[in-house]
Amino acid sequence: MSMPNQPSINRALFDQVMVPNYSPGMMIPLRGKGSRVWDQNGKEYVDFAGGIAVSALGHTHPALVSALTDQAGKLWHVSNVLTNEPALRLARMLVDCTFADKVFFANSGGEANEAAFKLARRYAWDHYGPEKNEIVSFHNSFHGRTLFTVSVGGQEKYTEGFAPIPGGIHHAIFNDIDSVKALISDKTCAVVVEPIQGEGGVVSAEHDFLKGLRALCDQHNALLVFDEIQTGVGRTGSLYAYMNSGVVPDILTTAKALGGGFPIAAMLATDRCASSFKVGTHGSTYGGNPLGCAVAEALLKEVNQPHLLAAVIRKGERIRDGLHAINDQYGLFKDIRGEGLLIGCELNEQWQEKAKAIMTAASEQGLMVLIAGPNVVRIAPSLIIPDQDIDLGLQRFALSIEAVSP
Ligand SMILES: *Cc1c(COP(=O)(O)O)cnc(C)c1O
Repeated sequence: MSMPNQPSINRALFDQVMVPNYSPGMMIPLRGKGSRVWDQNGKEYVDFAGGIAVSALGHTHPALVSALTDQAGKLWHVSNVLTNEPALRLARMLVDCTFADKVFFANSGGEANEAAFKLARRYAWDHYGPEKNEIVSFHNSFHGRTLFTVSVGGQEKYTEGFAPIPGGIHHAIFNDIDSVKALISDKTCAVVVEPIQGEGGVVSAEHDFLKGLRALCDQHNALLVFDEIQTGVGRTGSLYAYMNSGVVPDILTTAKALGGGFPIAAMLATDRCASSFKVGTHGSTYGGNPLGCAVAEALLKEVNQPHLLAAVIRKGERIRDGLHAINDQYGLFKDIRGEGLLIGCELNEQWQEKAKAIMTAASEQGLMVLIAGPNVVRIAPSLIIPDQDIDLGLQRFALSIEAVSP
């Protein structure tokens, strides 16, 4: 039945006018505040999805709204023919709070990774010659949807039908250092890894494994690239997950939460690597756009505070405790894992392939959750989700499980 205000803007219109590469849920959200969202019918949802680990400060956070609207009245865009104040301030902050000496801005995670992989090849070409061009990555990894990034990614379904794809890419087994030893050589220019595989099912890299990668990279003069697009900006309770691992990469990519919902991404690098991107070697029209940089600056100021990061750990534990209690009652998960507020719940044998059904049932109960493959329910809420919203979300989650049978 048609809505009084906007008669024909509904889910059916998606199928008429949008390329069918997505299959969105039935509800259409209209507005959000904090960790609550309201749809076209005025129905309220608790947001455990956070726009896929993006909405780090929830919806319409006052500091972000004011950063965006202030900048909107000043300067929107100048291109990279000129620099701008918000970009310089944000780069300064990122350099001050990480290992990096230099920053390249992009608009999406895929684009930041594209820059990272190109830089790794260019750096090796500069210092060691054209033979050193191979990239070692991991099965089940996810690095974006451009042709280079899907090829580095370790999920064949994402490159199927897109050949010829870029070459020189090898996939090792995550958390298996011997599998990396078998593939790395002096022809390797970079090893690329997510500290926690997000899309691949929320699987943490062991710290010893990351240390092993660092040692192998050093031994073979290869760069270590951390894709922190999902784990970065406070998600694990550290500003970046590498900070908690004892391993420092040469290049790091950050996106998703960086803009809290405004598209912006960055590649961070040491001076030595960065100098291989000489004038004219790489670029992006919108990269470093003043609007995105102003929002990210405000977001980083909020997130990079000890009390906020400590609360991420505490809130993550509160959710995990609730999930364990639900599991004690319904017995559907064989593993509840992740770090901070990036949580994956893997379904057991009886509940195989039910993640999507649970996500749909949750939406009916007024709860937004995510999945990571057919057997993992993923939770990645706002980093400042109030405890009462956590508890309400967990109640609704229990009701959703009841509505889905194994
Ligand atoms: C989401 C994601 C990407 C891709 O980011 P886009 O902004 O969708 O291009 C890359 N790597 C990881 C680890 C991600 O989670």
